[in-house]
Amino acid sequence: ADAVFDAGRASPMIAQYQALKRAHPGALLFFRMGDFYELFFEDALVAAPALEIALTKRGRHAGEDIPMCGVPIHNAELYLHRLIRKGFKVAICEQLEDPAEARKRGGKSLVKRDVIRIVTPGTLTEDALLDARSSNYLVAVAASGGELALAWVDISTGAFWTEAVERAGLPAALARLSAGEILVPERLFAEPTLAGTWREAGEAVTPLPDASFDSIAAERRLCQAFKVATLEGFGGFGRAELAAAGAILGYLELTQKGLLPRLDRPRRLESRAVLQIDPATRRNLELVTSLSGSREGSLLAAIDRTVTNAGGRLLCERLSAPLARPEPIRARLDEVESFVESPDRRADVREALRRCPDLGRALSRLSLGRGGPRDLLAVARGLEQAGALRDAIGDEPALAGIARRLVPLGALVDRLVGSLEDEVPLLARDGGFIRVGRHEELDQLRNLRDQSRRHIAALEEHYRRETGISSLKIRHNNLLGYYVEVPASQLGKVPASFVQRQSMAGATRYSTKELAELESRIASAGDRALALELELFESLRQEVLAEGDAIAVTAQALAELDVAAALAELAVEQRYVRPVVDESASFAIVGGRHPVVEQALARGHDSFVANDCDLGPSRALWLLTGPNMAGKSTFLRQNALITVLAQMGSFVPASSARIGVVDRLFSRVGAADDLARGRSTFMVEMVETAGILNLAGPRSLVILDEIGRGTATYDGLSLAWAVVEHLHDVNRCRGLFATHYHELTALASRLERLSCHTLRVKEWQGQVVFLHEVAPGTADRSYGIHVARLAGLPEAVLRRAEEVLHRLEEGEARSAPAKLADDLPLFAAALRPTSGPACAGAEPSEIERILEDVVPDELTPKDALELVYRLKKCL
Ligand code: ADP
Repeated sequence: ADAVFDAGRASPMIAQYQALKRAHPGALLFFRMGDFYELFFEDALVAAPALEIALTKRGRHAGEDIPMCGVPIHNAELYLHRLIRKGFKVAICEQLEDPAEARKRGGKSLVKRDVIRIVTPGTLTEDALLDARSSNYLVAVAASGGELALAWVDISTGAFWTEAVERAGLPAALARLSAGEILVPERLFAEPTLAGTWREAGEAVTPLPDASFDSIAAERRLCQAFKVATLEGFGGFGRAELAAAGAILGYLELTQKGLLPRLDRPRRLESRAVLQIDPATRRNLELVTSLSGSREGSLLAAIDRTVTNAGGRLLCERLSAPLARPEPIRARLDEVESFVESPDRRADVREALRRCPDLGRALSRLSLGRGGPRDLLAVARGLEQAGALRDAIGDEPALAGIARRLVPLGALVDRLVGSLEDEVPLLARDGGFIRVGRHEELDQLRNLRDQSRRHIAALEEHYRRETGISSLKIRHNNLLGYYVEVPASQLGKVPASFVQRQSMAGATRYSTKELAELESRIASAGDRALALELELFESLRQEVLAEGDAIAVTAQALAELDVAAALAELAVEQRYVRPVVDESASFAIVGGRHPVVEQALARGHDSFVANDCDLGPSRALWLLTGPNMAGKSTFLRQNALITVLAQMGSFVPASSARIGVVDRLFSRVGAADDLARGRSTFMVEMVETAGILNLAGPRSLVILDEIGRGTATYDGLSLAWAVVEHLHDVNRCRGLFATHYHELTALASRLERLSCHTLRVKEWQGQVVFLHEVAPGTADRSYGIHVARLAGLPEAVLRRAEEVLHRLEEGEARSAPAKLADDLPLFAAALRPTSGPACAGAEPSEIERILEDVVPDELTPKDALELVYRLKKCL
């Protein structure tokens, strides 16, 4: 095989390789050679380290060695997975004929090859490449006449949506979808105002030529794909929505090489129908992933009680996109409530759901020609359960909407179950999946094949008797096919009719006429049986695809059922209540708890202290003070999380909750978390705060934790002050504002809808006890030193800090800094230049240099503590 790759000039195979490579720019080329996919040139240099496999070379081109690496086809999926995860796209190039056929055409004929599919992050269907419990979206962004729109599909379920978005809402919409891949026209990709948005989306972004986003071509594509003459029946899409949807179809055709997966007709999502949550808020609230990026520790992990993967995906989707209209929220809550009230039905339904395979993903693989017998069986089993579930639901009115969409398709199920064995192989080409007794001709061929195998055993017996070699054996391998093997010691007894094929150390192998005949009978019967099975597979596949839309509807209904029953299970287990979500302006949570912290505490047998929160029209803004570790962040977050849960249609951790529906949720929490993102924390904080002040309206809920902390005290205080005033007077939103600037509480007397609350602590035998109770009023002390003690600071440092704090609080420092420095020699060095001549010749120490920059007037107790840390480090 190497010969063709050897020539100094471009050999035919290199030419073939290079042509395919040119036709698929931006993708690594997996070039099929026998049992391997090989990568050459640049691709090999990039892929070998990414896959952690050996880089070798093969042949020469233009006087240079050709770098190469390869992966065996039998576990190619594993390697594909790694590359896709690292953001690569891979073009799969197969051999389109048997190399033997190419040889027949002439000595140097090249095997025909072509790319059969481009694997990209947004177009996966294989279970091995997908996360079973989250949706994988392919998103396109398009602009037309100043409007901006998105379209997205999940090709593993066929869901297809469009949404017109405002520019300011684009980051929130993209964060909500958390897409595997985002197609962007080059023109938008180059727009400076959107640079941050693309950066946020990272490797998922794929810029494409503007021509791929042409709305006229898009209309034509959509009409073709859905076999309609006009799109009028689809609901009025804007030009930008059409362009985005068309770009998706075009990209699918390109990557699937003309095959389109089964898709739902595109539906329009109205932005205002969902709760807007910007990317920072999403991260802060740890809705579906925690700050560390894993699912563990997220709200999703805490509330997920679904029993099917499709249910798990839908729960994740709903949590990512809570609703903003009371009516559909109530409908979802009705479903959950019906399961809360009927534990027996809940148990039955969950039991049946556990037996449901992943219908949607099986269907998508079948529709793209990548499915196997197991996918057919999955469809059958899923539909069977759908029938059983419809019976289990009975005539419960709250579930009628779901029941109606469970289409059992009895005839199809009978046909599939009747045709397929109970256990079937993954791949159709392995054969043996059509039930015995189902197809006469197939049974005959199989008999012939199996009988011939018995004939071989008989022939072996016959040869032994005839030759008198009792150790003679008939064996099979891929190289020789069937052969007779005789041990070296018995060679004298071998008859002349045996044709010698291979001589080994201890034995010799022969072929015979009888054996060759039998072999060809076995092979041809086996081949014909397999060909017939593949035909039967194809016809069953077509029967399934003919019902594709009904199956997809059923799959969605099953997922909805799973989510409703799972949320009911959660509500009962964790004592959640049904929230009231309406058009009012209220926000009244009684006995609210933090869903994630509560479960974490329960694991350590601790209980969570419930707290009320009332942001009604007359007291819409709360200013929250209290020492560190008292529970401010927890309280802030729990109210945001309760809102998210309520609006996604879940019961909530509270003893009662009434929420006037929230349209946008903002949360700006803590500063340290953003350090890794490489921008100055203070800058990040201000950018996010600007976003909130520009976008929050009367229906929004804003949660701000310690704003202004990243700058000098007076700067920070003034900013926080102005922000609160703006939220109160201009945004007029509901909000919670945690701060360590006690000075802010003075605002409460001026701003009529602002009230002060604090987290209570109790001092007991010199110890501070956090009660985690929210009460009206303001905190009187910070207890920073107390927290430092809990953290294990050396006792000497703590005592010293207490001394400093005491003096500072007494105001000594303000009136006479020099005196303080004298009394507290620690500060003496910093003050030396103003209080007297520096000791001549002595180099200032690190500690002295640090202290030089300190302005004690501007230190909060917390800053002082941090300073002590730094100083201690220098010792
Ligand atoms: P702060 O923001 O005031 O520094 P946190 O909200 O981070 O404090 O809370 C600190 C810790 O206190 C939490 O990790 C949690 O374990 C505990 N905690 C907070 N609120 C409560 C509560 N309501 N009930 C029980 N424990 C709580």
